[in-house]
Amino acid sequence: MSATCPECAQPLKPAPPYPVWCMSCDWNVLPVRGLMVLLELLLYRSSQRAEYRADELGARVAGVPGMVALLDALDTRAYSAARFLETSAHTVRPEEMWTALRGAVDAVPGFETERRRRAARLEKLRVDQTHPATYLRMEWVAGLPYEEVGADAPHRDSLPYL
Ligand SMILES: [Zn+2]
Repeated sequence: MSATCPECAQPLKPAPPYPVWCMSCDWNVLPVRGLMVLLELLLYRSSQRAEYRADELGARVAGVPGMVALLDALDTRAYSAARFLETSAHTVRPEEMWTALRGAVDAVPGFETERRRRAARLEKLRVDQTHPATYLRMEWVAGLPYEEVGADAPHRDSLPYL
């Protein structure tokens, strides 16, 4: 026995326990869309919490100053790194890539870095829609009690921006 739509008599595809709607005339689609919006809101909320939790784990490993510096670099330096990779990376020899990348990022004057920092805060810049605004993540991390680096990282001193 196959079900049909009460509005347009097209065949329906029931998939218990999920609600059924008609793809031809959108019969009963409102409750389904409402449920989808509710699930997306819950997922969005939980993904934001997951990012804060991941930041806390990062702070436990790298220490609060290192994690704050990383998040600040996302707002202030990632643009320069991306621009270098788009425009200049193909002209640099592979063994000089990291030095050239660091040089390109470090060439940004301090006032521009500060402008980017302020603009990121005003624009509530974030990695993507699943992430909280980066400045909120930085405030969260700054309040955590992990001042010391929690993990032994060989060659840590040669890593950029720590
Ligand atoms: Zn229908």
